[in-house]
Amino acid sequence: MISGPVSTHNSSTTSPTNRTDAELIPVRMLNEFTYCPRLGYLEWVQGEWAENIETMEGTFGHRNVDKADRKSILAADKKTDAGSEDDQSEKTIHARSMTLASEQDGILAKLDLLELSGSIATPVDYKRGQVPDLPEGAWEPERVQLCAQGLILQANGYTCTEGVIYYIASKRRVVISFTPELIARTRQLIADFRQTASEGMCPPPLEDSPKCPRCSLVGICLPDETNLLLHQLEIINDTPPTPQLPRKLLPARHNALPLYVQQQGAFVGKSGERLTVKLKGEELASIRLLDVSQVCVYGNVMFSAHAIKELTLRNIPIVHLTYGGWFHSLTTGLSHKNVELRIQQYRTAENAAASLAIARQFIAGKIKNCRTLLRRHLGDREAPVLRHLSEYYKRVHRAESAETLLGLEGMAAKEYFGGFFSLLAGQSEFDVSSRNRRPPRDPVNAVLSFVYSLLTKELTVTLNSVGFDPMLGFFHRPRYGRPSLALDLAEEFRPIIADSVTLTVFNNGEVNGDSFIERAGAVAMTDAGRRSVISAFERRLQTEITHPIFGYKVSYRRILEVQARLLARHLLGELPEYPSFVTR
Ligand code: SF4
Repeated sequence: MISGPVSTHNSSTTSPTNRTDAELIPVRMLNEFTYCPRLGYLEWVQGEWAENIETMEGTFGHRNVDKADRKSILAADKKTDAGSEDDQSEKTIHARSMTLASEQDGILAKLDLLELSGSIATPVDYKRGQVPDLPEGAWEPERVQLCAQGLILQANGYTCTEGVIYYIASKRRVVISFTPELIARTRQLIADFRQTASEGMCPPPLEDSPKCPRCSLVGICLPDETNLLLHQLEIINDTPPTPQLPRKLLPARHNALPLYVQQQGAFVGKSGERLTVKLKGEELASIRLLDVSQVCVYGNVMFSAHAIKELTLRNIPIVHLTYGGWFHSLTTGLSHKNVELRIQQYRTAENAAASLAIARQFIAGKIKNCRTLLRRHLGDREAPVLRHLSEYYKRVHRAESAETLLGLEGMAAKEYFGGFFSLLAGQSEFDVSSRNRRPPRDPVNAVLSFVYSLLTKELTVTLNSVGFDPMLGFFHRPRYGRPSLALDLAEEFRPIIADSVTLTVFNNGEVNGDSFIERAGAVAMTDAGRRSVISAFERRLQTEITHPIFGYKVSYRRILEVQARLLARHLLGELPEYPSFVTR
């Protein structure tokens, strides 16, 4: 059993985002809360939303119902106003997509269909799927949602003692009586939901529930992952000795991928359901919008208004980088609705101790992953650099100030890069001994800077989609135009993604002397060189590995998202600490 959510932040339980008593609860949200209290909270209070096959089928099934039949509504009004009681009892009038509320119960509903016969009203709710084989005729969330609609109709002066659920796949109507027990249960759930929402603390995830695989928010909620981490941190009562590994509820990788455009003067447009890239009228590429996760453009690339509108409406970000690869801005739709998370992020950033605790995790994870990369490639398990990095790792956990942590990070990085550059020592053409940047003065440092920029843009997009403000970090202090939180989270991934890609492109010969140009002591990559590195970077992000804690196969790109969500779970008080990602 879970002992209850653990608050690690210093906020009181009231937050500006808490729902107030005055707000009407949509009955659709009441359905979600009845299914799982956490689902109701995530959707109503935190504004989270995600499609899965079931929600898409539901929307598709409702397509006719959602077209408000204004004729029917007007006809219903006329009959109600003008007709006698007897006249009305003979005819049933249908009104669709009506929105009604009950101030008394504090709820609001958009009725799929209302059948009126005189003063007798019957709500009809459309559900995808088959009629369930249950004595009650329908699942509890569906019955509660329908009963809440009945309460609204009663509050509006209608006689309403039963409702109908129409199952689209079975094409069958199931009549649900509004018994005193169902009414009492519905009112209790309304009260529980209101209290949960006003307390501002997300209910804990269900444990090993068969509901989770069918839940559209499973990738946001991370129920099994959160429960496992809570077990490991021993804050759950009755902890079983070996908590089971999470079920694999997430797809291992994303289906949609970034589109990179680096041809100067290219034009990105929209044609039907596809994005097109043209140069001087010639089509260079045509990609289904469904297959695009982000559009990354280097230098001067133009967009049609149609393309921008479609991309922002679909939450597909446009990432702008300079021709040289410096990530400088992002075009997105309206920002994420999860205001609660951003408020906690700002509060935590103002709290030096809380920020330091998170920053320690970022840097400890980075040093551990640096050590792992060197251990795998050096072949000498006794190498002094490995021992030194282990010592820095321990000292990071004891760092008592941000300045001390910064110093330890710098010393560990210097030690690490000494070992890292030795891995390329056999290639005299690319022989370097130290990290340099702004501008990079050799090919290896040019690739490192470019890949770090790619990683930063990837994390900026990820953090933005989760609901963070990517500009405010806990280790990197705010600086104008700097995505500090993305740089923070990048720390633990630099060795295992960016540095690993750098080693790959040099060791595999994916770049050579022709991939670089030198001007006034600065080294930059050619278009072809950049294409090779971008390709290696994307391959790395698509690589699936076995997650060291959760035990299932997952791509690095998915891991970036999971880490961002775990950081959110920590800031919102569910996890007592942020668990950095470390490979074995
Ligand atoms: S994934 Fe499970 S615990 Fe999380 S909101 Fe959905 S049903 Fe609830």
